[in-house]
Amino acid sequence: MEKIKMTTPLVEMDGDEMTRILWKMIKDDLLLPYIDLKTEYYDLGLVKRNETNDQVTIDSANATKKYGVAVKCATITPNAARVEEYNLKEMWKSPNGTIRAMLDGTVFRAPIIVKGIEPCVKNWEKPITLARHAYGDVYKNTEMKIPGPGKAELVFTDENGNETRATIQEFKGPGIIQGIHNIDKSIESFARACFNYALDTKQELWFATKDTISKKYDHNFKDIFQEIFDNEYKEKFEAAGITYFYTLIDDAVARVMKSKGGFIWACKNYDGDVMSDMVSSAFGSLAMMTSVLVSPDGVYEYEAAHGTVQRHYYKHLKGEETSTNSVATIFAWTGALRKRGELDGNAELVSFADMLEKATIKTIESGKMTKDLALITSLKDVTVLNSENFIKEIKNTLDELMK
Ligand code: NAP
Ligand code: MG
Repeated sequence: MEKIKMTTPLVEMDGDEMTRILWKMIKDDLLLPYIDLKTEYYDLGLVKRNETNDQVTIDSANATKKYGVAVKCATITPNAARVEEYNLKEMWKSPNGTIRAMLDGTVFRAPIIVKGIEPCVKNWEKPITLARHAYGDVYKNTEMKIPGPGKAELVFTDENGNETRATIQEFKGPGIIQGIHNIDKSIESFARACFNYALDTKQELWFATKDTISKKYDHNFKDIFQEIFDNEYKEKFEAAGITYFYTLIDDAVARVMKSKGGFIWACKNYDGDVMSDMVSSAFGSLAMMTSVLVSPDGVYEYEAAHGTVQRHYYKHLKGEETSTNSVATIFAWTGALRKRGELDGNAELVSFADMLEKATIKTIESGKMTKDLALITSLKDVTVLNSENFIKEIKNTLDELMK
């Protein structure tokens, strides 16, 4: 068989621990035998980040801006223990945080649906994609404990020194206050990323806030979404046969539980934090969750939603067998290859990505899976495979499909 050619390179961001081990296995067994793989390689493993004073992370984000599509392996976000373990010069920032800030993106997370791994919510037939705004609100707040009686005010001072004031509360006794903010530019980016992603995946878009109670703050989110939709996306949505739907957050939660799935749910930062954990655990497992960062100007970075699976890596280092699920990492690659194929008009690359996803799902549905899935599956005849053999089984299924 002749290998599939690529015209534009993918930005490849290698990572840490167990996922770095899986990364190589996936490339060796599932990609390199079929594709003349063209990547611009950046090693975001902690050792290299430390060596380059984290410049490699910045370089990889710039390369992503240049080429438009990246695939990223999970990476360690250093804490005090990691500084010691890796003898770090500094407690380097989270690579995801750095990349997100440079690409100005929104994170979309969607479950991978497989027969035998059923969602707890029995009417969910299709995936629900969570789109989380990743700037501001309570994550960038200023809080104060109020010791006793007194007046709390909101004060804004403009560039000329003019003050606008509003009373928060006349305290009669002790209490608490909190100041939060957001920026129109960030909300606009969030809105465009959501509308673009809905068009891209041909799914309805839902957005919800509490604008009846928060008449200025939340209402601003609602207004910005509506204005951008009306001015830039209405006709495109009509042409694609999809809709944009706004409702109150409590109404949205009730509707999500009764829905069949198959839509994108855009959430403010806090709602997205809470709801993405609810949706992902209801669908089964973090190892069956795709994650893609989409910037408003159409740059894509694909990754797995889970971390570097440290506990399994230490077992691997001791020579013990591991059964680590590589599905989310495989889907990071297929997502990136498909997007690259679409952008380059490379139909072969797109259909290879489809085929590899199909082979992965078919392997699990035939009862061959890693331990994490074996624990939650409703299938009866199950074979638990180790990390390596699971990937080899996917290769066998892929070769069957390609015959
Ligand atoms: P984790 O890597 O997501 O793993 C937590 C636990 O979840 C594992 O111990 C394992 O449970 C289970 N698990 C996760 N992925 C799995 C998979 N693919 N197959 C099977 N089981 C899986 O989180 P962590 O151990 O808390 O974090 C490790 C490192 O990852 C940290 O340094 C953190 O900074 C980093 N991290 C990176 C990213 C990213 O790059 N996007 C995201 C999150 C965390 P059992 O041990 O019970 O089998
Ligand atoms: Mg959370």
